[in-house]
Formats: sequence, C-alpha cells, structure tokens
Amino acid sequence: MDKPKVGLYSLTSCSGDILETTNIEEDLLTVLKWIKVVDMNVAMPSTGETPDIAFVEGAVTKDEEIGFLRDLRKSVKYLIPIGTCACTGGIIARGPEERREWLSDVYKEAGEDIALRFPRPVREFIAIDFSIPGCPIDKNYFLHCLGYLLKGVLPEVPNYPVCMECKMKENECLLHYRRLPCMGPVTRGGCGARQPSFGRPCDGCFGIYDDANVEALKAILKDIGLNNDEIQKRFDLFLERGCT
Ligand code: SF4
Ligand code: SF4
Repeated sequence: MDKPKVGLYSLTSCSGDILETTNIEEDLLTVLKWIKVVDMNVAMPSTGETPDIAFVEGAVTKDEEIGFLRDLRKSVKYLIPIGTCACTGGIIARGPEERREWLSDVYKEAGEDIALRFPRPVREFIAIDFSIPGCPIDKNYFLHCLGYLLKGVLPEVPNYPVCMECKMKENECLLHYRRLPCMGPVTRGGCGARQPSFGRPCDGCFGIYDDANVEALKAILKDIGLNNDEIQKRFDLFLERGCT
C-alpha cells in the first residue's frame, strides 16, 4: 500500500516550525516508514507530488499566499496550520494600530493597504482541519497529531492550561514562588510546560484556552508588581489574538 504523502509548506515565516520537525531525531526513521515527505522547503526539493496531509507554517501577508492556500485546500485531505503565525497571525500581527502608523510612514498609501489587510491567520481564508500552535511548535505534540492523522482521526485539541502539565512534572511554580509573570494559567497546554520546566515563565505561544480566567491572572500579575502597561504587553505577545 502507498504511504500517505505529507507536505510541509511555508508562508511568511521564520521557518522555525518546519525546522522543529527536523529535530525529531531518534523518531525520524520510524516516521519515514509510515509517510512519504513530498515537500519540505528547508530540507529537500519538492517531488512535485500532491500531498494527502499538508502542514502550513507562517502568516498570510500576500495575495499570492491566499491563492496558494486555496489551491492546496482543494487537493489535500487534511490541511493543518502549524505555529502561532499560521494559527493567529503570531508576533508579526502584534500592535495593529502602531503597525499601521509605521507602514504608512514608510510606504505611504501602499503601507496603509498592507497594514489593513495583513498579516492574517490561515483560517481566515480557507477551512482548516485543526491547528498546531506554538512558537515554534513542539515536536512531540506534532508527532502526537501526525499519529492521529495517519489513523484517519482528528486529534483532540488540549483544552486545559499549561499549569496542568507543569504540575504533572512537579515543577516549582514560578508565578507563585518566584513571582515571575508566567502566562501558563490561561495558555492552552500541549507543549509539556517546556519553558517553566527550564525556569522561564510561559509566554503564551499556544494561545488562550477556552474559558481561561483572564481577569484572575491579570489580578495576580498586578499583585506581583506589574503595572497595567506591562500586563497588556504580556497579553499582546501572543494571547490577544485569540484561540488557536
Ligand atoms: S510561529 Fe514562531 S517559529 Fe513559527 S514562523 Fe512564526 S515566529 Fe517563526
Ligand atoms: S510555573 Fe507557570 S505554568 Fe507552571 S504552574 Fe506556575 S503558573 Fe502554571
């Protein structure tokens, strides 16, 4: 039986998510027994074949990327945005008002046009099957999702906070004991608490989970000494652009 074909594609991005998939190291040979990679710009030339499963990283910032996505959607069984830029617009979609000013200053009318339309998440232009957030994605979570797709099933997206995974690892809580501004209490799990596990507060790159208690976290951040501007900046980094 033919192996399912998988393509990994980049829109406007730093390529961090596709690079992360190349870090699967000891699992690589096992994965390649089950799939055929037909496109992966950071590692190989395209075979020209149409994939069954397409993973797309990066935000949409050009008209030609919209056309590319629409064509891809018509030809694949599953289309999954990977990385927070593809899921919500990511860091480059931060501060739309300031960005409009900067772009108008530099590019005049053309800048206004760019600022109004882009960058946008993939789901605003085509139907997606689900998404894999992270900046970059987590390789273990990526493999977990790929395993489901190979069985023809969509994985369930975690709807619990990073704190849950942090507690399961028995980490010391950085927010409670060290008064560091950790965004874990409102951030969707799935990364295995990768930053708190190394003593760094979570920045929220998996996006906000459903029913997260944002106001409670804002009150705690205020209590540990952040002012309103600093709190807003913590939320602006990833969380203000919604769920993934
Ligand atoms: S989500 Fe992060 S790692 Fe992925 S393309 Fe955007 S900036 Fe790069
Ligand atoms: S360190 Fe952060 S993610 Fe871990 S339990 Fe504390 S608040 Fe939650």
